[in-house]
Amino acid sequence: MELWYTEKQTENVGITCKITQTLHTEKTEFQDLAVIDTLQFGRMLVLDGMVQTTIKDEFVYHEMISHVALNTHPNPANVMVIGGGDGGAIREIIKHPGVQKATLVEIDGKVIEASKKYLPEIACALDDPKVDVRVEDGIKHIAEHENHYDIILVDSTEPVGPAVGLFAADFYRSIYRALKEDGIMVAQTESPFFNADLISRVFKDISAIFPITRLYLASIPTYPSGLWSFTMGSKKYDPLAVKEEDIAQYPTKYYNAAVHKGAFALPNFVAELLK
Ligand code: SAM
Repeated sequence: MELWYTEKQTENVGITCKITQTLHTEKTEFQDLAVIDTLQFGRMLVLDGMVQTTIKDEFVYHEMISHVALNTHPNPANVMVIGGGDGGAIREIIKHPGVQKATLVEIDGKVIEASKKYLPEIACALDDPKVDVRVEDGIKHIAEHENHYDIILVDSTEPVGPAVGLFAADFYRSIYRALKEDGIMVAQTESPFFNADLISRVFKDISAIFPITRLYLASIPTYPSGLWSFTMGSKKYDPLAVKEEDIAQYPTKYYNAAVHKGAFALPNFVAELLK
């Protein structure tokens, strides 16, 4: 018998993958968690019926949420990730030679446990000595810090449940305060095809707080529509001013100097959302 998993991405669209087995399911304090094995994308982490990451395409998202900011900041020593309990962003962050400390603030400890057990390729850096893993609400953590981090990455779930506040203007103001005077934030901001209103609103909110705001794109097959956006707020450094020779050399599968620049080239319908 063939088994298929479908994520209903909008009222009218879904993604369907043939699966070989369900490895784990549980109801945590915050969400329904599942790890399934698919033929096309390998093992897949699903929260509340939404694909979070898969073994085959995770590199795109994790490299792009991390390396654009890491290579825009000249000295990214102290970096934090809010959400991101799978550990993929942390694995990328500690590749950068300038990083001395990477803090992960994930609200749901069960996501970290399941990722370490079933997705070790992604979670492999969570026990690195440079990494501080905290099971806390990211909103509370950020509100308790001032002038502290060089880079903050918001690697959140979709804006439902505990992640709603991670897309709010008040939260971006707290991030601004938690960053040092030349700090940078990047948030994952969903699909330009399916989440146009969210992208417009978040871009406007971040532009009202940070002097430099930029949107960039990446192609991620298992995320709704396959085209994904990230919004950067920067106090001082412009990602478009980065020189090719200043991009640190370490192994990546998607990110490179040309992608760093090209990711900011926006199709007209996306540029329209930012006006
Ligand atoms: N790459 C993913 C995506 O775009 O679908 C996100 C992956 S990561 C697993 C998202 C994490 O954010 C989840 O594990 C969730 O528990 C966490 N999260 C949601 N709200 C949070 C909050 N307020 N503070 C900290 N973590 C939160």
